[in-house]
Amino acid sequence: MSELTFLSDISVTEIQSMGGDWSVAAAAKVSINPGEALELARTEETEGIKGLINYLIKQRHGSCLEHNSITFYVHAPLFVFREWHRHRIASYNEYSGRYSKMLPEFWVPPLGRNLLPVEGYKAARPQFKAATQEQFDWLVDDIKAGAEDDWARYQERLSRGYANEVARVSLGLNIYSKMWVTSNLRAWLNFLSLRTHEPEALFVSYPMAEIEQGARLVEAILTEHFPLSMAAWNAAGRHSI
Ligand SMILES: Cc1cc2nc3c(=O)[nH]c(=O)nc-3n(C[C@H](O)[C@H](O)[C@H](O)COP(=O)(O)OP(=O)(O)OC[C@H]3O[C@@H](n4cnc5c(N)ncnc54)[C@H](O)[C@@H]3O)c2cc1C
Repeated sequence: MSELTFLSDISVTEIQSMGGDWSVAAAAKVSINPGEALELARTEETEGIKGLINYLIKQRHGSCLEHNSITFYVHAPLFVFREWHRHRIASYNEYSGRYSKMLPEFWVPPLGRNLLPVEGYKAARPQFKAATQEQFDWLVDDIKAGAEDDWARYQERLSRGYANEVARVSLGLNIYSKMWVTSNLRAWLNFLSLRTHEPEALFVSYPMAEIEQGARLVEAILTEHFPLSMAAWNAAGRHSI
C-alpha cells in the first residue's frame, strides 16, 4: 500500500497574539492624549473607539495598525508558500527539507476546484471553469502518479546515502510544508487585500484559490481579535493601508 497521503486542505492555526482594537486606537491617541493612550493600554477597553478606528482606516493612518502582532502555523503545499513568502512584511520560519526528511503529504485538487481557463482567459483577470468528472479524475490520477514517482526517487536517493538537500530537489511543488508566520494587522490587511477575491472591493484581486483559502482562515482569526478594525476595513473597501 502507498505510504503517501493526498490532501486538499490548507490549514492556519493561531499560535499567539498581541494587541487588539484597543491598541489601534491607543496608538492614534499617543499624538494628542498620551495619558488616554496609556489608560487604554491598561484597560484594553474597546467601548467608544469605533468611530476613531473607522476614521483611521478610512484615512489610511496605517502606522496605528502596526502596534500588534499575530503568529500563525500554516500547513500548505509549496506552491502556496511560494506566493505567501512574497509578502515581505512578515517573519517566517519554515520546515527544512535540508535538515529534515520531507513528509509524504501531497496536494491534489478537491472536487469542485475550477481547473480549466475560461474562454477568452486573460492573465490579468484569471478565471477558471469546472472540469468534467472525467477531466477531474484524469488530473487527480496524474498528479498522484507523479507524486508516487517523485517520492520513490526521493526514498531511493536517501537510501543510497545522498544528503537530504540533494535527494529532495525533484519533489513537486504540491508537497506540503509547514511554517510559522508573524506579522502585524497593517501587513495582514495588505495580504488579505491581495489574496482574497471580493467583487465589491475597491481593488479587485484575482488570487490563486489555495492561497485565498489560507487568507480566508487568516481573516477569520483576525476578525476575532480585531472585530472593529476588520469591520472598518471591510466598510472602507478592503484596501491596502
Ligand atoms: C494576483 C497576484 C498575482 C501576482 N503575480 C505575480 C507574478 O506574476 N510574478 C511575481 O513576481 N509576483 C507576482 N505577485 C506578487 C506581488 O508582486 C507581490 O510581490 C506580493 O503580492 C506581495 O505584495 P507586497 O509587496 O505588497 O507585500 P509585502 O512584501 O508584504 O510589502 C507590503 C508593502 O510594503 C511596501 N514595501 C515592501 N517592500 C518594499 C520595497 N522593496 N520597496 C518599496 N516598498 C516596499 C509596499 O508598500 C508593499 O505593498 C502577484 C500577486 C498577486 C496578488
